[in-house]
Amino acid sequence: MKFCPKCGTRLRYRAQKPNPVLVCEKCGTTQPVEPSVTRPEEIAPEAGEPIKVVGDKEEKIKTMPTTNIDCPKCGHGTAFWWFLQTRSGDEPPTQFFRCEKCGHTWRQYS
Ligand SMILES: [Zn+2]
Ligand SMILES: [Zn+2]
Repeated sequence: MKFCPKCGTRLRYRAQKPNPVLVCEKCGTTQPVEPSVTRPEEIAPEAGEPIKVVGDKEEKIKTMPTTNIDCPKCGHGTAFWWFLQTRSGDEPPTQFFRCEKCGHTWRQYS
């Protein structure tokens, strides 16, 4: 993944001859393609990393969707939520909530 040194926009692969380049669609800056990124699929957008454990990466919580649910601890009405596969793959994933206000985390038993 390469970014434009001028404006920070992600560079797009452009197959042109004799050598393909990475081009910034915003400001037009081009960069030569390095040997490690010579194929378009190698600079495809990265898949989102799966969220692993509760409280592992706090900063990732902030990007999660929120829902209107009452926190059992402080009574705040909005919480982040996500699904987590807790055991074997044939069991349904567990839904977790984290209070937006106090950070209390709980799971929903189905
Ligand atoms: Zn640019
Ligand atoms: Zn709370």
